[in-house]
Amino acid sequence: MKIKRSSKCTLKFATESKKQRLYEIMNEYSRVVNIFIDMFWENDFVAGQLTKDLYAIPASGLSARMRQCAAREALGMVNGAKEAKSTKPRHTGKKCIWSSQVVGLESGRNHFDLWLKIHSTGTGDSFYIPLKQHFHFNQYADWNWATSIIVHREYIQISFEKEVGQKSTSPYALGIDVGINSLLTASNKSWFGDQIKALINKIKRKKQHSKAYKRAKKELSYYLHRIVKIFFNQLPKEVGLIVVERLKSLKKGKGKRSKGFRKTLSHWNYRELLKVIQMRAEENRVRFRTVNPAKTSQTCPVPTCSHTQRENRVGKVFQCLRCGYSDDADYVGSLNILTRFLTGQYGAGFKAFHEFLSGK
Ligand SMILES: [Zn+2]
Repeated sequence: MKIKRSSKCTLKFATESKKQRLYEIMNEYSRVVNIFIDMFWENDFVAGQLTKDLYAIPASGLSARMRQCAAREALGMVNGAKEAKSTKPRHTGKKCIWSSQVVGLESGRNHFDLWLKIHSTGTGDSFYIPLKQHFHFNQYADWNWATSIIVHREYIQISFEKEVGQKSTSPYALGIDVGINSLLTASNKSWFGDQIKALINKIKRKKQHSKAYKRAKKELSYYLHRIVKIFFNQLPKEVGLIVVERLKSLKKGKGKRSKGFRKTLSHWNYRELLKVIQMRAEENRVRFRTVNPAKTSQTCPVPTCSHTQRENRVGKVFQCLRCGYSDDADYVGSLNILTRFLTGQYGAGFKAFHEFLSGK
């Protein structure tokens, strides 16, 4: 299985004159694409017919490679429009799909980590735009770069690919509870990320939107990524599926927010965390499912009891007020999340991983 990711990189670090030069190139490129579109619209072309002689037709100062890109993009747009039976497309110059023959990334010196290099002109000189390599970007160090970069007016979009092999076919599922005592608690009685509360409190102490506030938020974000990575590195190979709580809709969340995590960690952070877990699951060939989060922390996990009452949970401890069962509250949450999936519509065929462990 091949997986793909894309990452955006802002162009805001370019000077005004560099931006203007980029826009001039994009405008000229767009003009050439439209000439090709006119040519291809009248006659049916296939990719094999795109030849050097054909690239040379539009009068332009653009390099031969740039024209080649323009022809390819034009053909893609024309064939797409013909298939969809829509009208003749126009290239607006707002985004350009440039192949690795005309754009490249080069690591730089100084303050800026990365440069976008554009070979635009026929004379062979290159034009550089500074990019600031961001954290998400570094995650793709061992991935393959896709063969093209999509250049927008304000940012570029780079795609990465990786071959990860087949998805796991193991039927064993693991439930995961997200919390502030430990970021992740899994239904095989494992806990990950005990610094989460301290990091959240650090953000709360900063003045909102100040530099220190932003820095603390970034630190939390790094932490989420790091803990999820550790979680998957330690995930037993028999686990074929993980289950987490779905994100509550913002509307529903307002006014009756559940205790704990979502009260202290923003909606945004939870969404980011879910996304990171989902992406890492995919990279590790593990299936990923979500369940409705309602009352998973208040329900007794003993199958013959299932008593649900808010007072069953007091801080870190769960103690059932009907049958007396007691354990770590986050662990109980992870069991309930797993049970909700296994007993639900899509749970057939899956088994609890802790049953595998206990030899059942
Ligand atoms: Zn009970």
